[in-house]
Amino acid sequence: LYGKQRINSAGLNLSDLEVLSGLQQYLEPFKIQTWHAAPLVNGRVYAGIEQQIINPAYSQQIVGHVTDSDTKAIADAISIAADATQHWRLSAVNKRVTYLLKAAELLEENRLELVALCVREAGKTIKDALDEVREAVDFCRYYAQSAQELFAQPLTLPGPTGEQNLLYQYGRGVFVCISPWNFPIAIFIGQVTAALASGNTVIAKPAKQTPLIAMRCIQLLHQAGIPKDVLHFLPGDGVTVGRYLLSDQRISGVAFTGSLTTARVINQQLAQLPGIIPLIAETGGQNVMIADSSAHSEQLIMDAVQSAFNSAGQRCSALRVLYIPHANADNIISRIIGVMQQLVVADPQDFTTDIGPVISMDAARQLREHVETLREHASILFQMQLDKSLNKGCFFPPTLIELSSLEQLTKENFGPVLHVIRYHSNELEQLITDINSSGYGLTMGIHSRIHSTINTLVKNSKVGNIYINRNMISAVVGVQPFGGTGLSGTGPKAGGPNYLQRFTNEQTLTTNT
Ligand code: GLU
Repeated sequence: LYGKQRINSAGLNLSDLEVLSGLQQYLEPFKIQTWHAAPLVNGRVYAGIEQQIINPAYSQQIVGHVTDSDTKAIADAISIAADATQHWRLSAVNKRVTYLLKAAELLEENRLELVALCVREAGKTIKDALDEVREAVDFCRYYAQSAQELFAQPLTLPGPTGEQNLLYQYGRGVFVCISPWNFPIAIFIGQVTAALASGNTVIAKPAKQTPLIAMRCIQLLHQAGIPKDVLHFLPGDGVTVGRYLLSDQRISGVAFTGSLTTARVINQQLAQLPGIIPLIAETGGQNVMIADSSAHSEQLIMDAVQSAFNSAGQRCSALRVLYIPHANADNIISRIIGVMQQLVVADPQDFTTDIGPVISMDAARQLREHVETLREHASILFQMQLDKSLNKGCFFPPTLIELSSLEQLTKENFGPVLHVIRYHSNELEQLITDINSSGYGLTMGIHSRIHSTINTLVKNSKVGNIYINRNMISAVVGVQPFGGTGLSGTGPKAGGPNYLQRFTNEQTLTTNT
């Protein structure tokens, strides 16, 4: 494979002007292309009523059409996926690995189309879209390598003389992968390839908002060699498709990334089945960054702004609440506002855009309601005035709000809204208690140059990913395994060494020789 040295995808260097202008030119033809998604079961496309998929940046621009899955498509997918479990479970690991490595190549080869589609369907900036393809490629290669290491040979265990003990890991059966719209390539590919690499057949249910790009990914996986009876695709609404799919006893596991509310619904639904079906869930967070008075302020401000506003704040890792010491607060706040004023909120097809739209008009409305609710009890420190031309899309202005306590946030607000809270240095312990009592535990940033403070925060915070003196987003596959605890998820961490095992059943084989 790569020996021990797996190389993460290099992506593109956008600071090289030649690369940039080449990219600009190559992306141009995709601006008028439209795409199509439909149920894809055993390689067959199911026809049906088509709905438009609209560019979140322009309410008048159609990016493509989708046919939602009906009960026939769902029933067929389950039957065929269930029938294929035996041959795929026992398939040579090398074969699965080869398919995944080929898929990585194909994703890179088709990068321009995927980027263009991601920008237009999900409203991501070009840089974010490039990063997504890079991460998807990394997932393919990382899980290929993990599968090779974990599953190619059984583990030989010690035992008495005359006895052989071997531990095998096999796919569990049919895995349902339910992915989010905020990483429509990376997380989609990550879940699906993990389940496949571990020997499961897969039914992929993409987010309702981003079926087009998911369909392209499935086509590339099939092109890479993944058998058609092993990988099926069911676009549609979570309530309808999810409910039908997850009430079938032939499902052996579910990988889900999305909201806590949906994770709870899935959990309850699985509990109705006679079997005990594992759920791997990655949900949201109420992520904080804590700065003390020793923090390097330039670094802190850049990291806070990036963590809160990159990807329009639509990452579950994104910073929601920045804690700053009273003594430095005015200074830090005014400089954060200074940086926020420089952010370019615009069409993500433009290379200079920092912040594109949020995913839908409904998402923008929820953010507006959040700000309006807080207006009475908190102070809105800054809200950018958006250009009128953006009214045609689902844009939301970067906003900075000062709170008096974390309790004022009753839910995760998925967008470009940063909250700040001032604290006194003797309140650090209380602060950790407040943070832990939110129940979430995804990411946390610490900006300090005092080791004892860092240690106290690290030891006492129940969060999955902690970032010290840097931003707290963009976890890299195999470098920063990603995922939370508590209300933020079940684990294991995606892109980490313990992920694939959760997709398998173990078998101990003891032979009297
Ligand atoms: N892995 C992403 C990051 O580190 C976040 C994933 C998500 O938003 O679900 O920023």
